[in-house]
Amino acid sequence: MGCTLTNDKVQKFEVEEEPPQLIADGFDYPVGKPDARGYYNAQPFGKNTHLGDDWNGVRGGDSDLGDPIYNIAHGKVVFAEDWGRAWGNVIRIVHYLPDSSKVESLYAHCDTIMVSKGDWIRRGTQIGTIGNNHGAYTAHLHLEMRDDVTLPIGKGYSSDTKGYLDPTEFIKNHRKLD
Ligand SMILES: [Zn+2]
Repeated sequence: MGCTLTNDKVQKFEVEEEPPQLIADGFDYPVGKPDARGYYNAQPFGKNTHLGDDWNGVRGGDSDLGDPIYNIAHGKVVFAEDWGRAWGNVIRIVHYLPDSSKVESLYAHCDTIMVSKGDWIRRGTQIGTIGNNHGAYTAHLHLEMRDDVTLPIGKGYSSDTKGYLDPTEFIKNHRKLD
């Protein structure tokens, strides 16, 4: 289960600064909107030095292939393209918080991408569908969250978690924001 996310491509990543059009008012889970009903976290953050969560349908196998992926909070799409190799289709969204800090969510192995770079989208908007990285894996959503929004796509696994957040822990603690 899970995914191997080694990648030797180098990517510099910069977020264009502009006044946010949407401030996050809370965070939901990216599948089984809004609370992941019907899904389970097959490889939580930190397990095997995984830098994200792997969301799978409880029906098993590829039964979740093509299921909707939802934006976890209001934010701006900063990347939406096929990164190839271990990643496949990747969507990155920056979320502006009421305290002026920023966090990012990253959705990988998507079967389809339904948003474009530069889009401002609301929490709960469908952004794509669960995929298997062009057949490389059993279908699942690899979800990362970062509090450093300038990191490259990265490796998916590392014992160095600087700049990364535990997605489930973060979402659980930020369901509603003032
Ligand atoms: Zn993963």
